[in-house]
Amino acid sequence: VWSETRAGAPPGLRGDGADPTTSTADDRPGAEPSIDAGEIMMYYQPQVAIATGEVVGVEALLRWRHPRRGMVDPEELIRVAEQSAVMRLLTRRVVDDVVEQLAKWSAAGLALRAAVNVSVRDLHTGEIADQIADRLARYGVAPERLQLEITEGALMADPRRVLTTITRLHRIGVGIALDDFGTGYSSLQHLRRLPLSEVKVDRSFVLGMTEDTDDAAIVRSTIELAKALGLRVVAEGVEDERTWRMLHAAGCDAAQGWFYARPMPAEELVAWLARYRPLRPFGGHDDAE
Ligand code: C2E
Ligand code: MG
Ligand code: MG
Ligand code: MG
Repeated sequence: VWSETRAGAPPGLRGDGADPTTSTADDRPGAEPSIDAGEIMMYYQPQVAIATGEVVGVEALLRWRHPRRGMVDPEELIRVAEQSAVMRLLTRRVVDDVVEQLAKWSAAGLALRAAVNVSVRDLHTGEIADQIADRLARYGVAPERLQLEITEGALMADPRRVLTTITRLHRIGVGIALDDFGTGYSSLQHLRRLPLSEVKVDRSFVLGMTEDTDDAAIVRSTIELAKALGLRVVAEGVEDERTWRMLHAAGCDAAQGWFYARPMPAEELVAWLARYRPLRPFGGHDDAE
């Protein structure tokens, strides 16, 4: 299914095995994407501990730079890829890239943890668990350095197989985060039954929490619930200082968002980390709170 696009070029990603260079189908909305492997890259967004300002990890986010369309919204790419074998190839590529990147950071003295998003169907077979175990061993990366972000949609489709896959990953030490909490088929059963380490509050609630009392109430109760269950809670979509302070007051552990940094390529992240000065909610007086 991996096909050579040009002699010496990296293999393309295509679900049907056809030659991507002879096709223009990728420009039609909804058509199966024809992706040259060189057009795919990972961006990384820092995640910061709210109380100390310390960078606790990064979320790896897929980017597709289309030769004509420019950066394609990953949600669009994934929606289309999910309808074919392309998603499986994308996920393999993402896991490979991120584990390799973790090894590089580690060699450079950066003890980062990275979270990888996986799609609903990625969890329906054991393939992803095999691949992750293999890559971690091959690159000598500690499993604790990797986290998977799963959504509840995955659980609805095939809860038993998904549970088997994530239990295996959890046992080898890979963290599991429940992403976009509150947007899908949120069920408290998931929080109770799954081997989770983290809950992520969806940005749709976080973005509105300073203006909308309902959003604020949802964010606060999610934080409270997660903490009561012994789970770490991370808010995404923190764009301003007020939101950051409200999250701190609500007891949220960590946050990511434009207030801290946008997702960026790995090399930029290294420069960003070198410049970064931890922001504490109470300036220099945070220990007097
Ligand atoms: P997600 O996993 O919930 O990722 C968080 C999204 O919030 C990212 O969007 C991120 O760029 C965005 N974000 C972070 N901080 C802010 C902020 O302060 N304000 C706003 N407005 N947005 C913020 P992105 O990168 O466009 O990715 C969208 C979604 O695509 C992800 O949502 C995830 O569901 C999916 N995705 C991204 N990369 C991958 C991947 O490698 N594999 C899979 N299966 N899905 C991926
Ligand atoms: Mg995510
Ligand atoms: Mg999310
Ligand atoms: Mg999302």
